[in-house]
Formats: sequence, structure tokens, C-alpha cells
Amino acid sequence: MSKQLILALSKGRILDETLPLLADAGIAPIEDLGKSRKLLFDTNLPDVKLVIIRATDVPTYVQLGAADLGVAGKDVLLEHGAEGLYEPLDLEIARCKLMTAGVTGQLPALARRRVATKFVNVARRYYAEQGIQAEVIKLYGAMELAPLMNLADEIVDIVDTGNTLRANGMEPRELIAHISTRLVVNKAAMTMKHDRIKPLLARLESAVKKRQAQFAE
Ligand code: AMP
Repeated sequence: MSKQLILALSKGRILDETLPLLADAGIAPIEDLGKSRKLLFDTNLPDVKLVIIRATDVPTYVQLGAADLGVAGKDVLLEHGAEGLYEPLDLEIARCKLMTAGVTGQLPALARRRVATKFVNVARRYYAEQGIQAEVIKLYGAMELAPLMNLADEIVDIVDTGNTLRANGMEPRELIAHISTRLVVNKAAMTMKHDRIKPLLARLESAVKKRQAQFAE
């Protein structure tokens, strides 16, 4: 196993909050990520590289060892499954909730419910645990549209402020999980590259604590 460390970062909103934490932990890309179409970046540390990929691909890269470490939302990890991964650190960013939601004022269907979501595994597990029969329909976006178009009775989606739901005549119903961004580590890399990963984890943990303290002020 090479001594190089590859860190897989989720594109999009998580990236903007991850980079300052990484910088605090002593890792910074040597070029402006926003100005490049590249996907693999060198950093100020010669043996640390960053790959910037879709959030849903991060667990796969880390599980299969293509990346040693990754940064991904708990929503993605719950949906993907965490086999082959350690999840040693909550980065405490991009907090939100995974919830069921339905049309405002409408009671949830008592019989078999039709549920639209991109989190099909999470939804199937959740409804089974609740003893509710559900037909889960996979969508790739705009879940809020599904009940309005009679495609589904309910959705499972990420809720932050609830504005997206309200704007579409919907309201949150049940909380499935609190979500935040996590650091994940390939299990084999954690053993084989422990001397490299452990200090990095410690630096990231202090960066998280420092950020929390700033928010508390
Ligand atoms: P809001 O209108 O504030 O409730 O935001 C809800 C929408 O923003 C959801 O449909 C998500 O697609 C997106 N969103 C909000 N927070 C996050 C997050 N932490 N991670 C991923 N997507 C999010």
C-alpha cells in the first residue's frame, strides 16, 4: 500500500465548509478548486491528494480503498451502508434532518403508503421498523413535486429550514435521523497507514472543536 494519502471530498455545499476545516488541520489544495475542472488535486503536503467527487460516490471510493479517507454526509452513509468504513469523526457541518413529509394538513395514509425518495434504502428500513407498509419509489430530485402530482403520498427528504417543503404546500412529519458531515476512513488504510492517519484525525478533531468554540462565542 502506498504511503500517499488520498482524501475524497464531496462536491457542492459540503465542500465549501470542509475546505476551511482542512486548512485548519494543515491541508490546503495548491490551486483554486473553484477555478479548475480537474478532479484530482495536489496539496501543500506532498503525500496528500484530494479527489473531488459526487457525494454519493465518496463511500464507494473509500470502501474500495481508491481513497483512504472521505468526507460525506450521514444521509449518504446511511443510504450507502458503511461496510469497510470507519466513521471516526463528526465534522459537525451541513447539519440537517432526514424526515418524512407530506401535503400540509393531510393525514398520512393508513393503508399502504407510496413514498417517493432518493433515499430508498433508508426509507424501506424506516417504514419496516415502524410496521408501515410502504411502496418506495426512487426519484433523483425534486421529491417535493411527487405528492403534488399524485405520484406519492409521502416523501423522505432532507429538511433544513423547511422552506422548500412550505413553498410546495408540504410539511415535515416524522424525524428519521439527524444528519451532519462525517469523516470516513478505509478500514485497511486505518491499520496500514495508522501513523499517517492518526495525527491527521487529531488535527481535524481540534479544527472541529475550534470551530464549535467560535460558534459558541
Ligand atoms: P430547506 O428548504 O432549508 O429545508 O432545504 C431543503 C433542501 O436543501 C433539501 O431538499 C436538500 O436538497 C437541500 N439541503 C439542505 N441542507 C442540506 C444538507 N446539509 N445536505 C444536503 N442537502 C441539503
